[in-house]
Amino acid sequence: MEEMCHFIDGARVSGRSGRFSDVFNPATGEVCARVPLADADELDRAVETAREAQPFWAAQNPQRRARVMMRFVQLLNRDMDKLAEALSREHGKTLADAKGDVIRGLEVAEFCIGAPHLLKGEFTDSAGPAIDMYSMRQPLGVVAGITPFNFPAMIPMWKMCPALVCGNAFILKPSERAPSVPLMLAELMREAGLPDGLLQVVNGDKTVVDAIIAHPDIAAIGFVGSTPVAQYIYGHGCMAGKRVQCFGGAKNHMVIMPDADLDSAVEALVGAGYGAAGERCMAISVAVPVGDATAEALRARLIPRIEALRVGPYTAGDEVDLGPVVTNTAKERILGLVESGVTQGADLIVDGRNFSLQGYENGFFVGPCLFDNVTPEMNIYREEIFGPVLSMVRAGNYHDALRLVAGNPYGNGTAIFTRDGDTARDFASRINVGMVGVNVPIPVPLAYHTFGGWKLSAFGDLNQHGPDAFKFYTKTKTVTSRWPSGAKEGAQFAIPTMG
Ligand code: NAD
Repeated sequence: MEEMCHFIDGARVSGRSGRFSDVFNPATGEVCARVPLADADELDRAVETAREAQPFWAAQNPQRRARVMMRFVQLLNRDMDKLAEALSREHGKTLADAKGDVIRGLEVAEFCIGAPHLLKGEFTDSAGPAIDMYSMRQPLGVVAGITPFNFPAMIPMWKMCPALVCGNAFILKPSERAPSVPLMLAELMREAGLPDGLLQVVNGDKTVVDAIIAHPDIAAIGFVGSTPVAQYIYGHGCMAGKRVQCFGGAKNHMVIMPDADLDSAVEALVGAGYGAAGERCMAISVAVPVGDATAEALRARLIPRIEALRVGPYTAGDEVDLGPVVTNTAKERILGLVESGVTQGADLIVDGRNFSLQGYENGFFVGPCLFDNVTPEMNIYREEIFGPVLSMVRAGNYHDALRLVAGNPYGNGTAIFTRDGDTARDFASRINVGMVGVNVPIPVPLAYHTFGGWKLSAFGDLNQHGPDAFKFYTKTKTVTSRWPSGAKEGAQFAIPTMG
């Protein structure tokens, strides 16, 4: 069995805490590796080397830092298949989806190549007599990112690329359930020319997360994961005086209006509901057909389409639409929630609970499930299931649908399917959700826009990637200067104004 490690000061190093966590191949259920869980001393060492390396890096001109990103993008393309294979093996998602995971991260690295432009400050010539005023963006120092299992390539890159190109050193604490790809990314950054010590991968669990929160030399934390952990890290991180942004869980609704193109809506629901076995923060988990006729037509088309979905291991390549869920614990939790849906009176019209695949009987597979007549009090509506389970909540009219989505405590993504521009525009402008799709089921913004939810899906002021990332990973300094310095002026006792 493979023994994983940390990546500190440009090299893989073994764990010293004596604590480990098993890493599974979800398709077979076998333990494929064990990953060390760092303690506070190991984190200290990583932070110390990062602190030593950071001033040299910050002093490089932004173009030099951007060139590292340029080479990193080339190396990601070179190693795409290798990265996707390692990712699918530990996560379970299909190879095509794993490549998408890498590419969505790569696109942020590409955006970061524009750092020289993005880091430009502002300048006011002659703000007063011989006075100019300018602002500059400076790095924070050593910053940390704590990331979830479901995008082991994309989310680490969303954090590390902007943090590094802005001149920071970065400590990555990836998910202990999918540790291979983050280590590979660190090695690729080194190969791309990143000096040692600037990107450290410290594996671990709550122990090392608490050490990150408490560490006086870590200036900022970016977190992505479930809402309870997001709230915990946001609260404690802010109390420790750090800059913190935490992105949490989701319950994403797709509203289907009576005038929607139903064929497109069905394809969209199936892809967004069951792709990656529902383990996406932007997965659609609630379909909201408006009017009973829409609901009946949708239901009739969804059932055969869902029953035809191909579930299997990533090794089957294009033969498979979705893979297993990440662990047996996740599988048991999902099955428990499906059971609660049945007990609480929802109609389970596609039942994937007894799914089994010959040769993969120990894999963590859950067959796709579809519920109709779900109501907002049920657990399957209230909780983020994070599995291949779609719930239909019928709405009487557009306003009921809007109220339902607005009343949900999560606000990551939502979508509306309609042919009516007025309705689409009204929905996009009134809904209290961070990312909205119009005839687009998974409206994940591209790298040069920003990504972030509202309500219980995000804590902190700035979004991920795009221009917000450059704000999050830098602090602004504003300089007021007077030249010629010899200009004589008496003491001023009132606040200076330029009037
Ligand atoms: P998780 O919250 O269990 O873990 C996320 C990270 O926090 C991991 O690195 C983990 O080691 C650490 N962690 C776990 N428990 C902790 C604790 N008690 N104290 C401190 N640290 C802890 O999340 P996950 O299961 O890895 O990922 C799935 C979740 O992430 C879902 O809720 C999903 O919606 C969410 N997610 C959100 C976004 C977004 O941008 N909003 C993106 C992807 C995933």
